[in-house]
Amino acid sequence: MELEFGPEYDRFREEVLAFLAETPRDVDRRSFLKAATERGYVYRSIPRRFGGSEQPFDPIRESIVAECFDASPFSWRLGPQSTGMLVPTLLEAGSDWQRERFIPPTLLGDFVWCQGYSEPGAGSDLAALRSTARLEGDEWVIDGQKIWTSDADHAGFMFGMFRTEPGADKHAGISYLLLEMDQPGIEVRPLRQITGATHFFEVFFDGARTKADWIVGRRGEGWRVARANLKYERNLGGGPRLRQRFAAVLELARTMRIGDRPASEDSVIRQRLAEIEGHVRCAETMTLRQLSAAARGEDDRVVLPMLVNKLYGTEVGEQIAQLGFDLIGADGLRAPERSTWDAVSTSARDTDWVDQYLFELASGIAAGSSNIQRNVIGERGLGLPRDLRAARARTPA
Ligand SMILES: Cc1cc2nc3c(=O)[nH]c(=O)nc-3n(C[C@H](O)[C@H](O)[C@H](O)COP(=O)(O)OP(=O)(O)OC[C@H]3O[C@@H](n4cnc5c(N)ncnc54)[C@H](O)[C@@H]3O)c2cc1C
Repeated sequence: MELEFGPEYDRFREEVLAFLAETPRDVDRRSFLKAATERGYVYRSIPRRFGGSEQPFDPIRESIVAECFDASPFSWRLGPQSTGMLVPTLLEAGSDWQRERFIPPTLLGDFVWCQGYSEPGAGSDLAALRSTARLEGDEWVIDGQKIWTSDADHAGFMFGMFRTEPGADKHAGISYLLLEMDQPGIEVRPLRQITGATHFFEVFFDGARTKADWIVGRRGEGWRVARANLKYERNLGGGPRLRQRFAAVLELARTMRIGDRPASEDSVIRQRLAEIEGHVRCAETMTLRQLSAAARGEDDRVVLPMLVNKLYGTEVGEQIAQLGFDLIGADGLRAPERSTWDAVSTSARDTDWVDQYLFELASGIAAGSSNIQRNVIGERGLGLPRDLRAARARTPA
């Protein structure tokens, strides 16, 4: 079995590593992303006129960049709402002026977006949402409430789903709107998390306004528009990321002592490490399989691997965090050291085990809960009968 990508890709990896080595440590994220775009490393599938690097489709190069960048000291990923959701949605369903206006500054982090989907009473069953928007002259007027809105305190903009067609069917009456957060009709209130931090918020709308043409897609088609990003969001495999996290917990096990020996020599800890390592290897193999399929153009069913990756990554991540938490012993009673939560850019290398452990509770819920992932994998992947009791599973966000 050939598990190497081959000399062409080895050379590419060296080139990426050389770029990282030459980059000054104190570079700001904006300049870093600009340089990485010019070199064709990031935003590969996005046309140049919208600020991307417009490279030929090559999932292996994409994965090499992500792996090398993740292992570098640079914080390069932007919030998933901005580049993982809004940008692909605009590419698929936006109008040209919306793409030109919003995508380039979003790619450099100048425009920060939050995602206004969930509401009290509308999470997994997202189409139960009740916040409304009605057209008044050349503006939408918005009323209602969103909840669990990550980054709402510093996002300049929101993309959200609002009921615009009173009386229409549950899924048919929703529209996808863009709006500015800094305006009198919007109040943002923090929600305190178990870690002590506040990264998501309640957002209240009381006559908030947005321009009539800040709608993506047509009226009442918001449900379809919100799903458009699935086609773009590849997120193949999670092997390298889990490998980095496993390396951190292994290092911890070698450092901590049980009695007069390193914890890594204790038979129970060794068993747990071996089990996790088995899962990490599975994830790595899945990554390679998915990359090979993508490189052959056989990944048209990309949604299913994404769901499996998220579920598997969450569960193995939980095991790693739990082991780290157990290894630090009584130190687990203290509050997390970090008050910031930048899960996207730092969690693979993070060694604040209290924060990791508490964060893992959230990852089984955020962006589609593990139960929902299981339902969809069972129904779409394994062909099991649909869950009749569920009105509708939500789109993985
Ligand atoms: C860290 C974090 C960040 C988030 N950021 C955002 C954000 O930026 N924007 C946003 O809009 N939302 C955000 N969310 C909300 C997230 O999308 C919802 O929490 C998620 O969709 C679940 O909805 P819910 O919390 O209402 O739980 P519910 O839907 O009420 O689910 C409760 C429990 O019931 C289970 N369940 C529900 N339906 C079924 C079913 N049919 N079959 C089996 N089990 C089921 C679920 O798995 C869960 O365990 C965030 C959540 C977290 C944790």
